[in-house]
Amino acid sequence: MTYWRPHPAITAVVYLLAITVPIAIVLAVIGSSPTLLEKVPEEHRGTVAAFGDGAARLSGSDGGIFGFDDAGASNSTVQGLPLPLPRHGDWSPRRPGDYPPPAGLTSGIDYSVEITEDGHMTHWPCEHEIPVRSFDAPPGSEGDLIWAIETLAFASGLPLRYAGPGTDDERDAEGAISVFHGDHPMFSDPEIAGVGGVAAWPHGLVLQGAVTLRPGQVTPYPGDPWSRSLTLHELMHAVGVDHAVPYGPEVMAERPGPHPPTILGAGDQFALHMVGCR
Ligand SMILES: [Zn+2]
Repeated sequence: MTYWRPHPAITAVVYLLAITVPIAIVLAVIGSSPTLLEKVPEEHRGTVAAFGDGAARLSGSDGGIFGFDDAGASNSTVQGLPLPLPRHGDWSPRRPGDYPPPAGLTSGIDYSVEITEDGHMTHWPCEHEIPVRSFDAPPGSEGDLIWAIETLAFASGLPLRYAGPGTDDERDAEGAISVFHGDHPMFSDPEIAGVGGVAAWPHGLVLQGAVTLRPGQVTPYPGDPWSRSLTLHELMHAVGVDHAVPYGPEVMAERPGPHPPTILGAGDQFALHMVGCR
């Protein structure tokens, strides 16, 4: 899951990893609340604690801004917790088999999407704007983040919108993608330049995405190919896309070739179609 930085000016070999095992992420979210943690079976509490960094609060079954229908909430549980289900017409589960690839593209090679344990693709609802906020972004880096968000919105149809720097209250906000610049436990591995992923409910409903970019990997000079490629790659994890094969032409290649891609490959585009809104 690592990615080597080919830029000769920076010696650290680096890159990305998807923190996207859905159940672990759901537990990570739960891990931020002692009350909810009590409901996690004892054998899993260590996992929860290990994922504690950056975990988000969970507002319970009211569904927060998505306005879930409480009547459906008892239909699905994880670890005994009631889960929100979207209102009819708001969102529906998707399975990868519903998206046969076009000729020339192969799942697992040219593209992959995140799949939950119950066999569904993780994807965001289409009916609500998804704000993307930055936290502790280095001066000058905003332009490349906006470029990545708009590239992703255009290619996927997802209602992504750059919402500027976030406040402390908005860290890990529900219904949003948070882009952090700072440390992350996974950065103890020097090859990892960034992490990105989704918090997914069973059936693949995504209500939250997060990206953390390692300091020094995003330059203050707009237009740097590595900054753009890294930011776009991690944001794609935050909308449910997983890795394509290493060294391929895709932005989602598990490791990039000598030139970090900034143009979406055919596999990237198909994966964004699968998780997107058109
Ligand atoms: Zn990755």
